[in-house]
Amino acid sequence: MKTVADYIRTIPDFPEPGVMFRDITTILQDAEGLHLAVDGLREALRGVDYDLVVGPESRGFIFGVPLAYAEYKPFIPIRKQGKLPAETISETYELEYGHATIEIHKDAIKPGQRVVIVDDLIATGGTTEAMVRLIEKLGGEVVKMLFVIELKGLHGREKLKGYPVFSLVSYE
Ligand code: 5GP
Repeated sequence: MKTVADYIRTIPDFPEPGVMFRDITTILQDAEGLHLAVDGLREALRGVDYDLVVGPESRGFIFGVPLAYAEYKPFIPIRKQGKLPAETISETYELEYGHATIEIHKDAIKPGQRVVIVDDLIATGGTTEAMVRLIEKLGGEVVKMLFVIELKGLHGREKLKGYPVFSLVSYE
């Protein structure tokens, strides 16, 4: 029987030399791959008490929305600066070269709500850490973090100590 790992394609030297890019489009382009990924994430939420799912643009939407839909929970998008139309709060975080700013609608999370974060992949954990800051600023409580892929060698988990991190597939 196949697993999600069988549907991940690795592209060497993308987007720059030396990077092994883990391509999730090959999960999506196969109905079984898509089901294995979303159902695997659903499984990890068994017994978890939460109110909503939060995911970042754009690959966080790809897995976060079907998960929220299947679980009958709301989905809250986190987007790059300047994309959300209503009042937002923002957080800036460091990238390998430069920095990025992400935003969330101010009214999207109410104090005390229990939040599950979903993204396609965790590398250094920088994106997720910035998402946690946004969610906590609004009074939300992050109760679980779900990723399809984890790049273990980049130690994202250590950056997110104290938060329960789950991934379906991990690479060294
Ligand atoms: P981090 O902030 O943890 O260093 O990087 C994670 C973010 O970068 C995720 O939002 C993810 O979409 C993107 N990312 C970094 N490397 C890869 C990769 O090899 N494959 C995919 N699909 N996304 C990546």
